[in-house]
Amino acid sequence: MKFEELPLANPLQRAVRAVGYETPTPIQERSIPSLLEGKDLLGIAQTGTGKTAAFALPILQRLLDSGKFRSPKTCRALILLPTRELAIQVEDCFKAYAQFTAISTACIFGGVGDAPQKRNLIRGVDVLVATPGRLLDLIGQKAVSLKKLEFFVLDEADRMLDMGFIHDIRKVVAMLPPNRQNLFFSATMPDEISKLAATILRPNPVRVEVAPQSTPIERIRQELYRIDKRRKGALLKELLTEHPEMKKVLVFCRTKHGADKIVRVLEKAGIKCAAIHGNKSQNRRQEALGNFKCEQIRVLVATDIAARGIDVDDVSHVFNYDLPNEHETFVHRIGRTARAGKDGVAISFCSPDEEADLRGIEKLTRVKIPEGDQSVYDKLPPPQKETAESMMRNSRGRMSRDEAQARAEETRNNRGARGRKDNRNENRGNRDDRGNRNENRGNRDNRGNRTERPMNNVVANGGVPQNVNVPNSSNTPNPNGNRHHRRNRPGSRARRRMREAQNQG
Ligand code: AMP
Repeated sequence: MKFEELPLANPLQRAVRAVGYETPTPIQERSIPSLLEGKDLLGIAQTGTGKTAAFALPILQRLLDSGKFRSPKTCRALILLPTRELAIQVEDCFKAYAQFTAISTACIFGGVGDAPQKRNLIRGVDVLVATPGRLLDLIGQKAVSLKKLEFFVLDEADRMLDMGFIHDIRKVVAMLPPNRQNLFFSATMPDEISKLAATILRPNPVRVEVAPQSTPIERIRQELYRIDKRRKGALLKELLTEHPEMKKVLVFCRTKHGADKIVRVLEKAGIKCAAIHGNKSQNRRQEALGNFKCEQIRVLVATDIAARGIDVDDVSHVFNYDLPNEHETFVHRIGRTARAGKDGVAISFCSPDEEADLRGIEKLTRVKIPEGDQSVYDKLPPPQKETAESMMRNSRGRMSRDEAQARAEETRNNRGARGRKDNRNENRGNRDDRGNRNENRGNRDNRGNRTERPMNNVVANGGVPQNVNVPNSSNTPNPNGNRHHRRNRPGSRARRRMREAQNQG
């Protein structure tokens, strides 16, 4: 089928040609005719299937056909979706498809000032693309009303629920006029989503499912690397350095802090990259996304929430730097590559503590992910021993054992006697040389093995405890003349043992 065969008006046909589409994707082929007839639609489709055009083109066609006009502070079509990135993208699609028409669009989302958004709504718009929170906010401020709505689209419904928007969605739906055409899209269709769909759609909607539920797109070639957490950065760097064909790379990780850390590692290796996550301002996120789209940067590192709306053509590789706990997220992630008929590669890193997630993902997708090129492990530097500095950094400012001991030593030398502060340092800094915190605070050897407790040392060393402060007596002040706080009074148990040993001896 060709686009010309679809009953779309000339301005829309021209726009489709202008954006470079020749043949409709399966979801477009199956949805557009029914939607043009005014039917409701339940679409089970992932991002990347061309679902935006599948709903945008028929809505635009029907807006053109209706002969109605927008009224001030109203919209005729509402597209509700979970993230601002997705909202911006979907509005861009509407703009592109409506470029040869007089149809107006607006986009509203949180995290930015609402004044320009309110201005755009004064005269009313044909198509309003919105995230739920800001929409309700502006409805509350009477900047927009839904009473004239003709088309309602709920996009990425499963994600909306994941992100806790269910109450907002219900509030919005309660405000919609009864006579409207409804479109409901979700990548997955668990019970909760089906129930929500039933409250929105009219009976017997057309059901279009383009990819089997929760199955990654077959075209995606997958690779798995089992790797220790601490070596993931080195592995990513190595793979990117060795494979220049990895041109447009999306790296997913779990945390904002982790995303920034990956960027630091790659930038050090001269790889152009940027991160998008919730702590970045909207402008920074848009800038990073823009630079990635036009290939000014090679790697975009993203957390799942921030990446939700990413629609970038030709993503060559998706890396799962961390495996997601939520296994369906894996499907969303890898669906960012191999879009619109292109091939794509998804590479997953799995550390020993992520094995359970890997099993869950493989079970869900019914695909056993093959192991990647094993020779790459030989090219990696040996696992970095955590230095005092890195431990300090990693422990968010807490001191490492070496650091603490060095500090304690220094302070001791400076003061000539132990004070309360030194004591505290030692207690805080007890890590083995692998950076693990010692359970009993300071009683491990340099291989990280538990050593005897200090009170035993007391006996072994002729009654002189090694790892504890030796006070003159429990109630006497320390050499600085300050009394120890009861909790910090050094070596009370050791003293008791010492007394016992002496008594026995
Ligand atoms: P979507 O699933 O709507 O996010 O679309 C994914 C990508 O496919 C977007 O970059 C669209 O521009 C592109 N696309 C949508 N429909 C077609 C089509 N019929 N032919 C080629 N590319 C398309």
